[in-house]
Amino acid sequence: NREEFVPRQGTEEVKQLIDSTNSLLIEFSNLENWRKQMMEDLTHELRTPLTSVLTRLEAIIDGVYPKTDKNLQDIYEQVERFSRLIHNVQQLSEAEGARFKLNIKKVNLVYLVKGVYDGFLFIAKQRQIQMHFVNPNTPCTAYIDPDRMIQVITNIISNALKYTPPGGEVWLEFEIGEDDFTFYCQDNGIGISEDELPFVFNRFYRIDKSRSRDYGGSGIGLSISKALVHAHGGEIGVESELEKGSRFWVKIPIDNHLVSVKDQHDKTE
Ligand code: ADP
Repeated sequence: NREEFVPRQGTEEVKQLIDSTNSLLIEFSNLENWRKQMMEDLTHELRTPLTSVLTRLEAIIDGVYPKTDKNLQDIYEQVERFSRLIHNVQQLSEAEGARFKLNIKKVNLVYLVKGVYDGFLFIAKQRQIQMHFVNPNTPCTAYIDPDRMIQVITNIISNALKYTPPGGEVWLEFEIGEDDFTFYCQDNGIGISEDELPFVFNRFYRIDKSRSRDYGGSGIGLSISKALVHAHGGEIGVESELEKGSRFWVKIPIDNHLVSVKDQHDKTE
């Protein structure tokens, strides 16, 4: 029996080694595919506007396109958009990267969202959109990266204001459970059709490009948010109906065990 057992154990070890080598190879090839796809997407995103800027600059140099303030301003705005796009892509590749580090702090999530909400009140007023903060009157403490979470909440609220016409409304609500915290952002704006819904978290995805161009979006904000929420072990999603409105949600686990352990640790320090 013993003689039989040894080679079988050896075979098992070899099998494990092959398995882990295979999964490492899959990981590498996924990374390689991710890098290739990212380059393709980015090139696609930049090519058309870059050609338009170059053509116009050439025409100005050749003296066939008037060097008016308006024309220069247009070119400037387009170059500014590239710079924003590149900054966002950098953030996305960072957030999706394997070595992405969160700067974890003890945070009251309701308070964090309230801060973001306060920051948007002025813009909402300018856009004639009424914002509501439905206070759960329960604090919700969790260990998260506050800057990254602010980024996620900012993106969702800014989209709600962007895709809701004047006269519309935006509601921020919470559901605080034993193990998790859910944030909802509901608007009664332009909504998203059932066909488009599964893709809104894909990078560079904009619904009906002509519709989104009016809003100046790049289709990258939600993919960054998704990567950041996943980095927290959470989930992000949306329910929506065209011309009725959308409800985005972010669910973050509250690691109570971690909180209490850390609390004790903090107290003893
Ligand atoms: P963008 O910079 O284009 O807003 P996002 O990644 O933040 O990029 O969003 C992707 C797309 O999802 C948007 O282009 C828009 O068409 C759609 N979208 C996002 N939020 C909303 C919303 N609240 N209402 C309707 N459509 C939305």
